[in-house]
Amino acid sequence: MIRTRFAPSPTGSLHVGNARIAVLNWLLTRRHAGCFVLRIEDTDTDRNVSGAEAGIRQDLLWLGLDWDEGPGQGEYGPYRQSERAASYHRFAARLRDEGHAYPCFCAEGEDSLERRDRCACAALDPEAAPARAGGEPHTLRFRVPADRTIAIDDAVRGRVEFDSGEIADFVLLRSDGRPTYNFAVVVDDIEMRITHVIRGVGHLSNTPRQALLFDALGVERPVFAHVPMILGPDRQKLSKRHGAAGMAEYRTQGYHPDGLLNYLSLLSWSSPSGEDVLTRGQLVAEISLDRIGVADAMFDPARLSWLSAKHIERMTLDDLVAAVRPFVDDARFHLDDVELAAAVAATRTHYATFADVNAQLEAFFPQGEPHRIDSPVIDAAYAILSGIDEWNEDNLRVALKDIAKMSGVKGPALYQPLRRALTGREHGPPLGAVLFVQGRDLALTSLGTASESTSTNGDEN
Ligand code: GLU
Repeated sequence: MIRTRFAPSPTGSLHVGNARIAVLNWLLTRRHAGCFVLRIEDTDTDRNVSGAEAGIRQDLLWLGLDWDEGPGQGEYGPYRQSERAASYHRFAARLRDEGHAYPCFCAEGEDSLERRDRCACAALDPEAAPARAGGEPHTLRFRVPADRTIAIDDAVRGRVEFDSGEIADFVLLRSDGRPTYNFAVVVDDIEMRITHVIRGVGHLSNTPRQALLFDALGVERPVFAHVPMILGPDRQKLSKRHGAAGMAEYRTQGYHPDGLLNYLSLLSWSSPSGEDVLTRGQLVAEISLDRIGVADAMFDPARLSWLSAKHIERMTLDDLVAAVRPFVDDARFHLDDVELAAAVAATRTHYATFADVNAQLEAFFPQGEPHRIDSPVIDAAYAILSGIDEWNEDNLRVALKDIAKMSGVKGPALYQPLRRALTGREHGPPLGAVLFVQGRDLALTSLGTASESTSTNGDEN
């Protein structure tokens, strides 16, 4: 069974880059009926942001990415690095006892090759060093083997080779006892039985260090898969100025989460079917590591909106009404569920986000000052509509036919003055829907005003 992990640092909301990594891990895990682990990499305590872990969980669940193991859930935890000190110290002791690591008394924070060349710590008598280490501040450093080619068979990039001579001995435990990123990740991946490490290409340069640690610990390395970068259209590192937002913002802006899931998956992968609009089920059925390319992806907010629109188009009316409801500006639009459903049904191919509902609703209501409409249609409409028993869409459809009969007018000559009287606009949703969504009171008031101003104007002439 494959076991994957998503390992965010709780430093903020999920952005496009790391959400895409979570999406790929989740899709591949679900495809192979594996286990998806959420691990919180919070050792860098200065950078932790309070509430960020909760935000990340919320973002993941909004995207529909559920995890099988994570903080408080699963047998290979704890799943927060800040709670795993005992494991790091146990593995560190083993590496030291087996000669793979040594206490280093040099200044911390310097892993350069120059330091290695002038440092004598690596050569300290292994018997004497522990005694000295007991009293003096020190780090624990990994002893990088000399003259070795470290080959990584990356599932995306193919074979990548590193020369161990280019890698300086690196710190495993800081002088305050906290593990470094490279060490903690390997201990965690071992204890959490991770089989596939799927992450951004930015971590490729860390991989030889991690591979050396797996080798020194005698544990089979996981499959590594390094996914290319996402760039802005100017080929620079993706940022807000390219229109990229965090998942929390996309959620509050009303994007369809399946549109985002679809978009994020296509940032590095393409469907063998050549289709762009893919449901969650199709993505799970089709995803594979060997269709992830090595070329950097280009972020395209227009395509994201387009995919969100496509997924909204595929929703049932009931689901769409429920999804737009929280976005309706209640201060401007007082609509019950039936009225909202009628408005949404009449406009349903016009949504890129759920928040578009307000712009769509505007077209159902009057804009500007009511003005005189010189047409026999107005009086006929007033007479017929004021006689309707029950203000529902069926009755309104019949009423529109009756208005045509009574006024002797049909087609545009009927609809245009009516629409102008009701909304002040030339174009908009079907009139039956407009009448229903406005409701009896507002519709009759608008028509009354339009016909009154006709007679007032007539008197003056
Ligand atoms: N915590 C790391 C990050 O946020 C991920 C580490 C990994 O995937 O190995 O980029």
